[in-house]
Amino acid sequence: MQKTTEGLVLRATKTGEADQILSILTPEGIVSAAAKGSLRLKNKLFSACGLFCYSEFTLFEGKTMYSVDEASVKNVFFGLHQDITAMALAMYCSEIASTLAPADEEAAAQLRLLLNTFFVLSQQNKPPRLVKAAYELRTLSQVGFMPDLVACTDCARYDGTPFCFDVEGARLFCAECAAKRGLAVNLSPAALAAMRHIVYSDDKKIFAFTLGEEALAQLSLAAGQYTAVCLDKPMKTLSFLETILT
Ligand SMILES: [Zn+2]
Repeated sequence: MQKTTEGLVLRATKTGEADQILSILTPEGIVSAAAKGSLRLKNKLFSACGLFCYSEFTLFEGKTMYSVDEASVKNVFFGLHQDITAMALAMYCSEIASTLAPADEEAAAQLRLLLNTFFVLSQQNKPPRLVKAAYELRTLSQVGFMPDLVACTDCARYDGTPFCFDVEGARLFCAECAAKRGLAVNLSPAALAAMRHIVYSDDKKIFAFTLGEEALAQLSLAAGQYTAVCLDKPMKTLSFLETILT
């Protein structure tokens, strides 16, 4: 059976001399597909089957996996490939997407989010830590880990004080209630506003915010800790990413 679908190459593993096994995120889910000869310059699949290519694929269903029959490129995110931090971050986001293995509507949402993230990364005009935190919080929110950032869990206060984001409980406490529970505040009002923006804004506006250095450090830490709590296993790509993130 043959099908045509758009998809983003999350992983490309070389096999044999010039073949690749691709892991492609499509709007229905992630599929594995063999792209025979796609590493040869003159091959018809060459330009559309590279890592992080967003392409239209014609796939044949085989016994164990699909094979790519045709592929035409829609976006290759050039800027992303020019910067090692952007590349490392893209690999990290891809690993999270592969780990979450979304299907159906969640896959379509993940594809939109990753395309959005890769576009921002290829523009290279946002701090990588901001992009990382926004991707983490948004992707977790899309798969059932949306934190409750509306107000303090204990007293319903919603602004005017630093807050504690409780990563284990995915909830907020205002400074006063946090102190009563023996918890330390970890979010300034600006950092909390950014978190709310990431989790509650429209798809297209996720990355449309700026943050001072201190608030960005708080956002980054909270998002990273929350990601570690939500995902079952540590991401392999994270340790390298952490060494180059500024
Ligand atoms: Zn409170």
